[in-house]
Amino acid sequence: MQYRKFGKTGVSLSVLGFGAMRLPKDEDEAVQLMQRSFELGVNYLDTAVIYGESERICGKALKGWRDKVYVSTKNPLWGDEYKEEGWWERFEGSLQRLDIDCIDFYQVIHGLSWDTYTGYLQERGGMDLIRKAKEQGMINYVCISCHDTPENMIKLIDTGEFAGLTIQYNLLDRVNEEVIAYAHEKGVGIIIMGPVGGGRLAGPGLKLKDTIPGGVKTSAELALRFVISNPGVTSAISGMSEMSQLLENVEVCSREESLSADEKIAIEAALEENKKLMELYCTGCKYCMPCPNNVNIPANFRYMNNHKVWGLTENAKKGYDSLSNPENVEWGNKASDCTECGDCEPKCPQNIKIMEQLKEVAAALGS
Ligand code: SF4
Ligand code: SF4
Repeated sequence: MQYRKFGKTGVSLSVLGFGAMRLPKDEDEAVQLMQRSFELGVNYLDTAVIYGESERICGKALKGWRDKVYVSTKNPLWGDEYKEEGWWERFEGSLQRLDIDCIDFYQVIHGLSWDTYTGYLQERGGMDLIRKAKEQGMINYVCISCHDTPENMIKLIDTGEFAGLTIQYNLLDRVNEEVIAYAHEKGVGIIIMGPVGGGRLAGPGLKLKDTIPGGVKTSAELALRFVISNPGVTSAISGMSEMSQLLENVEVCSREESLSADEKIAIEAALEENKKLMELYCTGCKYCMPCPNNVNIPANFRYMNNHKVWGLTENAKKGYDSLSNPENVEWGNKASDCTECGDCEPKCPQNIKIMEQLKEVAAALGS
């Protein structure tokens, strides 16, 4: 297993992190899988209150491993209140379920945005509560998980409040690349969620699989190698539910060099070539957001391109189906929830006819 320093913290994390959002249904199997990953060198475990029984099951897996494994969890921030009482209740609930005294990496709000930072955390005193918990030794590092625009993520880094960010990045969704580079320069750790697109790049059909000299065993391998070849990435969280996935990921994350210079060039060339095939060239910049109906416009377009350009039809449909489910990596609603209010279109620098395109997405992926 390879290890990298997490920003300025001095902590070395395994390049492969265990994402406990899709654990095997059988609890004993889930515990065994996590503990096997710890034996193989994984030392970063990421869970959240909203992942069902995940925190409690992680607590069982941590027995005997607490001194070797770093734990990350997220504040769900239910409702629109950030009152002291509710915050402590949520925080202590996580400690109890995990059966630990201190959370190593506390993600202050599950999916923090610039607005929730300035509102809940600054104006309404949320950061004071977090600082108090840190002073009392119940939090080691204050971090964020974030789906906001790259500009807002950079503003969040510039606050200097956070030791690290958990963000989305994969070879077909590179909009956060500038954020990764900026964080790296500032000594802020970066954890990647969805390195294989929430599993969606792992299936058959990805034409990129054969683009690097010598090829790769699976498209999941290529996707993971691409993400960890970025020097600004500390660790990539994979939501593993099977031993075979774990073993494949461990093998990939144990390589000294994830991609050679030639392999990187070959991937870039293939990506550029396929971009030309995209009629729908959405950069994922999110300027069109937020949508009053919470339609995740760039995610819907990404699935459409995965289907049309990359031949990932089955997986694009699965991804589209999973929108609106808070347990998935992707958030927000489907194209079919667009009410054609027209708010988004004038904000798109690519002049995409968003409403028309969303109808096509719903027709292609919705059945
Ligand atoms: S037109 Fe549709 S996608 Fe755009 S903001 Fe309105 S509801 Fe959202
Ligand atoms: S639809 Fe336009 S504004 Fe929205 S993410 Fe894509 S390129 Fe950016």
